[in-house]
Amino acid sequence: MLNAIDAVDWSALPGPALRYEPDRAAAGLRALATATGLVQAADAGSLLAGGGLVHDHSGEVFPAAVTAVPLLLAIVRHGHPAAGATALGLLDDALAFATHDASTRVATPYAEAVPICCALADRVRGGAGLLAASGAEGGRLLADADGHWRFDVEEAAAEGDGALAFGALAGRWPGGGTSVAAELHRPGRAVPLVQAVLHHPPEDGHPDACLRLPGVLPDGLAPPAVLFPARCAPGAAGARQS
Ligand SMILES: [Zn+2]
Repeated sequence: MLNAIDAVDWSALPGPALRYEPDRAAAGLRALATATGLVQAADAGSLLAGGGLVHDHSGEVFPAAVTAVPLLLAIVRHGHPAAGATALGLLDDALAFATHDASTRVATPYAEAVPICCALADRVRGGAGLLAASGAEGGRLLADADGHWRFDVEEAAAEGDGALAFGALAGRWPGGGTSVAAELHRPGRAVPLVQAVLHHPPEDGHPDACLRLPGVLPDGLAPPAVLFPARCAPGAAGARQS
């Protein structure tokens, strides 16, 4: 665990110079991972909440929080119960702050400029089994994360004036068959889609699903193509991501 914390170059992660303090991220995670009681866990939590991963006074979350999710989940799993509770609280704050952050984006293995809320939510879903067994707070965190859906296109076909996209849906599609606005990410760019309709929902716990995308050419959906909720990044799509 400590090796995994030290393997990250926290000072290389972006963040506002006056509030993101990379040393607090590293020291706080080390302290939380090794905490043996309530007081130590609380002290570690203060470092992480006071500029390490989030800045609770200003309600900001830093890209370091996305990097830290697997580490915090490991602390929930293996750490002192007080440290685990602190880690859950930090995840909850990070996702809540991120949901109100319309401009911060992070690079991920699946897309280059993902809204920070969706990047966090995706990593939180990576700990779904653990969180489901972590009481009411874990369950609530998972439910919040599921609102930030992600659709990975695997194949596309023409249909009417648009396309059908076959792929994998993670998270929860809002309200059954309703049409939602989405953001389509391909290498080098993100474009807004006015309408995405869940044509065939996932079944029996398998993520396979199909979206109907009016006005989109199948060529524009060649993998790797990933969709996120447009509401997570209002007004930001259309700009070329560098
Ligand atoms: Zn989101």
